[in-house]
Amino acid sequence: MIDVSIPTHCPKCKDALLNEYYEDKTGKYFRKHCKTKLSHKFQCAFEDDAEYLAHATIAISVDPLIRVSWNFKKELLEIAHGTLEDIVRRNMELETIPFFVPDFSDYDGLIRKVKLYITFS
Ligand SMILES: [Zn+2]
Repeated sequence: MIDVSIPTHCPKCKDALLNEYYEDKTGKYFRKHCKTKLSHKFQCAFEDDAEYLAHATIAISVDPLIRVSWNFKKELLEIAHGTLEDIVRRNMELETIPFFVPDFSDYDGLIRKVKLYITFS
């Protein structure tokens, strides 16, 4: 398990993140997201009683939509082209790139780093 602190504000626009509670087959989570902006997307989730993140997703490109998701429990880093609906419809496999711990305090630097990994993987 990688210890990445739970952010209170969007690392890109610094707006307060919106909170949402949800449950799925893996557990009970709180999701925090910055969804209203057209220029970027940031979302993260943590378990009910956790101090650290379970998942985080950023968009490295908005049009076309390319999202990168960290799964801190499984130490997985996945790239998704398009929306969840696109992926389900086309039955696409998610690409993975070598896992690294993200530094959300340098958001633009993080996006550059992910793009570099995609280019070379
Ligand atoms: Zn934001």
